[in-house]
Amino acid sequence: MTLTNDNIKTILQGVKVIGFDADDTLWVNETYYREAEEHFAVVMAPYVSEDISLPTLTKTEIKNLGIYGYGAKSMTLSMLETAISLSNNQVKASEIEKIIKIGRALLNKPVTLLDGVKPVLQKLKGEYTIILITKGDLIDQERKLKKSGLDQCFEHIEIVSEKTENQYLKLLDLIHSKPEEFMMVGNSLKSDIIPVLKLGGWGIHIPFHTTWVHEETNENPYQWDRFFKMDNLSELLNVFFGN
Ligand SMILES: [Mg+2]
Repeated sequence: MTLTNDNIKTILQGVKVIGFDADDTLWVNETYYREAEEHFAVVMAPYVSEDISLPTLTKTEIKNLGIYGYGAKSMTLSMLETAISLSNNQVKASEIEKIIKIGRALLNKPVTLLDGVKPVLQKLKGEYTIILITKGDLIDQERKLKKSGLDQCFEHIEIVSEKTENQYLKLLDLIHSKPEEFMMVGNSLKSDIIPVLKLGGWGIHIPFHTTWVHEETNENPYQWDRFFKMDNLSELLNVFFGN
């Protein structure tokens, strides 16, 4: 839908709750995971080329999502599994140590806020119920939230294992809201936007420059007229405040 002064008003009437994704919507995340993969490829270089190690790692991570979930610790286990398999059990203890360090470094990365995050949240906070919905490792997401200094911006914080229609419904129930009053803002069409649109809510997609292959989707969000795409978070203020 193209934003015009007329439909902005329609949106304003309906939306009461705005949900934000965290990773790559509020702060940098995927960039660090891409770096970690590159470091993993270097450790694996004596055995296989990057063309083999990286797709194999991704495949292993996706296979393991159901048991390990998202995040750096899961990735570490998947890197180890991939290393053992691609080296035909020849991977050395010193290489395993390097892999563990790659995973640990992910857990110590700085939390770098994306442009406009703080002013946008602070301005919206007075007018709407602002909530955070993120998936991933509980301890790591709590660490990032604390480091971000944004924890006071949210009325409710939910860390889930998957962002499904069912999870969104449960959350809306919990905060006594309905899909038509709910707008979700995030970088992943698959996790942040499509499930919410399917429920009858609003979706604002703000793409990050890199997306993990697992978060890609073939579904066309433009089939819903409650879908919007923006270049950055500050554009949200245009929608809600017209400035
Ligand atoms: Mg995200």
